[in-house]
Amino acid sequence: MKIAEIIVDVPTRQTNKTFDYKIPETLEAVIKPGIRVIIPFGPRKVMGFVVGIKEETAITNSALKKISEAMDVFPVLTDELLDLGKWIAEETISFYIITFQAMLPQALKVKYHKQIELLTDNKEELPSSIAAIMADRDLIDFDEFQQRNGNYSQLLKAAQEGLLEISYMVKSKATKKTILYLTPIKEIQAFDEALQDIPLQAKKQRIIVEHFLYNPESIPQKELLEKFQTTAGSINPLIKLGLIKKEYKEVYRDPFKNKDLERTYALPLAVQQQEAINPILKAIQKVQHEVFLLHGVTGSGKTEVYLQAIEQVLNNGKEAIVLVPEIALTPQMVNRFKGRFGKKVAVLHSALSKGEKFDEWRKIQQKKVQVVVGARSAIFAPFENLGIIIIDEEHETTYKQDEQPRYDAKEVAKYRARYHNCPVVLGSATPTLETFARAKKGVYHLLELPHRMNEGPMPAVEIVDMRNELHRGNRTMFSEKLMEEIKIRIARQEQIVLFLNRRGYSTFVMCRDCGHVMNCPHCDIALTYHKSSHLLKCHYCAYETGMPATCEECESDTIRFFGTGTQKVEESIQQLIPEARVIRMDVDTTRKKGAHETLLKKFGGHEADILLGTQMIAKGLDFKNVTLVGVLAADAMLHFADFRASEKTFQLLTQVSGRAGRHELPGEVVIQTYTPEHYSIEMASKYQYNQFFAHEMKVRKTFHYPPYYFLTLITISHQNQIRVMEVGKMIRQLLTKHLSERATVLGPTPSPLVRINDRYRYQCMVKYRDEPNLKEIIRKILTHYHDEMKKNDLSIQVDFEPNHLM
Ligand code: ADP
Ligand code: ZN
Ligand code: ZN
Repeated sequence: MKIAEIIVDVPTRQTNKTFDYKIPETLEAVIKPGIRVIIPFGPRKVMGFVVGIKEETAITNSALKKISEAMDVFPVLTDELLDLGKWIAEETISFYIITFQAMLPQALKVKYHKQIELLTDNKEELPSSIAAIMADRDLIDFDEFQQRNGNYSQLLKAAQEGLLEISYMVKSKATKKTILYLTPIKEIQAFDEALQDIPLQAKKQRIIVEHFLYNPESIPQKELLEKFQTTAGSINPLIKLGLIKKEYKEVYRDPFKNKDLERTYALPLAVQQQEAINPILKAIQKVQHEVFLLHGVTGSGKTEVYLQAIEQVLNNGKEAIVLVPEIALTPQMVNRFKGRFGKKVAVLHSALSKGEKFDEWRKIQQKKVQVVVGARSAIFAPFENLGIIIIDEEHETTYKQDEQPRYDAKEVAKYRARYHNCPVVLGSATPTLETFARAKKGVYHLLELPHRMNEGPMPAVEIVDMRNELHRGNRTMFSEKLMEEIKIRIARQEQIVLFLNRRGYSTFVMCRDCGHVMNCPHCDIALTYHKSSHLLKCHYCAYETGMPATCEECESDTIRFFGTGTQKVEESIQQLIPEARVIRMDVDTTRKKGAHETLLKKFGGHEADILLGTQMIAKGLDFKNVTLVGVLAADAMLHFADFRASEKTFQLLTQVSGRAGRHELPGEVVIQTYTPEHYSIEMASKYQYNQFFAHEMKVRKTFHYPPYYFLTLITISHQNQIRVMEVGKMIRQLLTKHLSERATVLGPTPSPLVRINDRYRYQCMVKYRDEPNLKEIIRKILTHYHDEMKKNDLSIQVDFEPNHLM
């Protein structure tokens, strides 16, 4: 008898283990680890993952239930990925089922439709039972095969021999997409004649007519406008003349399709690139696991190093995963990989529909591609012969998932690379302190690219002291300097990026006269203003104090809490410079699918002078015409109640500065701040990463933060505030009792976002260096509260090494 061990799709603590099921004989050929099945569970039927096969079980024969149905014919998770899933579940204290599902494309969560499609013309090659079911058809529903008790082992054999294919239909609700095309409707002579008539001054019109003269075909209007840097204004006269017409045509959705994408070839490497790539190539050749940190400013040639390392991997017949932050997954970036490796590349991007993502994933599973470029979850690409994993912009927090399972793609990358004996390359201009500290200790192999490829300097950064503006009577959010620079750019028809960092809310208290910020005396963290109680609280350690009427440093009464939204900034620009054309990019204006890209295209087409936005505009943008970057309130991120505020400020300022002057036109950066003397602002303005690292490490050491200490954050939430506090206190007691004396347990304190959806949120934090029992203790705590969590809507979230302390 064959028994399958199955993880069932019932995410609770009691069911977070394998259950034994009998494999019916008809399914024996198909049931393997990694296959999903339908099984009876209690009164219902549920989905489950087969994770093991065995001959015996402790369950009595009468109680042993049978698998009802196989959902897959080929495993959706490899043995490696099954092991990885178990490891992630243990490490993050998540349910196995949730973890497995997180590793697969969403489309697989729904039951999709399978069909059997003949590939051979000669039915006599087919096993007889299959031929009988197919009769004279070339395509049948898989359901029919099942209903007629088809023979699985013959089916699998035929599929392996390439006689037939088992294909999946994902019913995608994605609406059809249409694009506006311009189509010539007159003979070539008419265009020739038109050229004689159109006045010489109408240059753009003439260029377009010439275009159709030589290419008498339909072309998407957008493409044409971009090609000739013009607007619909130069097209309309041609439509009036009856030369061309507008028409909408349906397109196959492929955001990255680019017919005339030019094939690129490896560039001869610069000396610094050659020195950086050699150790990576060596690890590839020796089939050896090693983690590299490629530290280089924007434009230092990191991507070219990635591309050439991948080329080597592909030459060795292996595969590559490239992770980039979601936001940086722009066509610009993707095209660099597609240009080099063409059809060998799959792209996993959240802008794809479920069906499209599934298609890309299938290409990986069927070994039709060897390179995947994607956001965080692409780390689970089901390659079986990995040769390298690259993580670009490694400092980005999006590499860690902020819901269960809270996995860190960097850690997953290391796990997979150890399994495959291959290198991991982390790249960044501003690595996290954790990563750089490891590189300095030699745990990671540090590779430096100190120079820009074009040998150009980084843009000059000017810091403007906003306190002086106030003293001079300027109460707007723009300094005189920034205003002046903006006006100059608009007059010169150059473009401007204005950056306002605001993560939803802002609650620190600052004196506008002297820039003093109210900090916790114990934690070196900005205190959070609580409106209801009119108190300032530290949400790390529970220290609290009243809201002062005057500044404790300079006694000015301009002390207040801080925060401006992008909308307000936009209104203000319109008041000060009515002629400025502004594109605002924030969560509100980019909610709609594709809005992000549309806005950027508009800005790229110079339909606006100013791009105003939140952190989403900081990354990956590359516009030739941008010569000024303004940071409106560097303090908003600097005094965010988070021990990483300085690090994030440094990273963001470095990154936004990199947006200016990337091409021929020189760039300039203006940073407005009330605390110009702060080390992270000062050092970012001079691009001093090493100095910043050294300084920040000292701060972290003094206040017991990572990378010197580990953190674990436990967030408790419930509708009843008293209950939240009780549970919080209990958790603190249990942790204090069972952990060693060297661990510090803080809290419970109100979370920075103390109420979400009418639920109160409190948190406890553990700071520690070495607590091997921590996970076990937390597991016990979760088990203790299990019933209340299930029945009473109590929630306890555990985040190991959290990115955000929300
Ligand atoms: P990064 O990824 O560090 O920002 P890139 O790889 O994008 O840097 O390189 C910056 C610019 O320099 C790009 O335009 C790229 O095409 C060019 N470049 C990179 N390496 C070389 C090289 N070896 N020779 C010539 N140009 C290069
Ligand atoms: Zn003051
Ligand atoms: Zn504190």
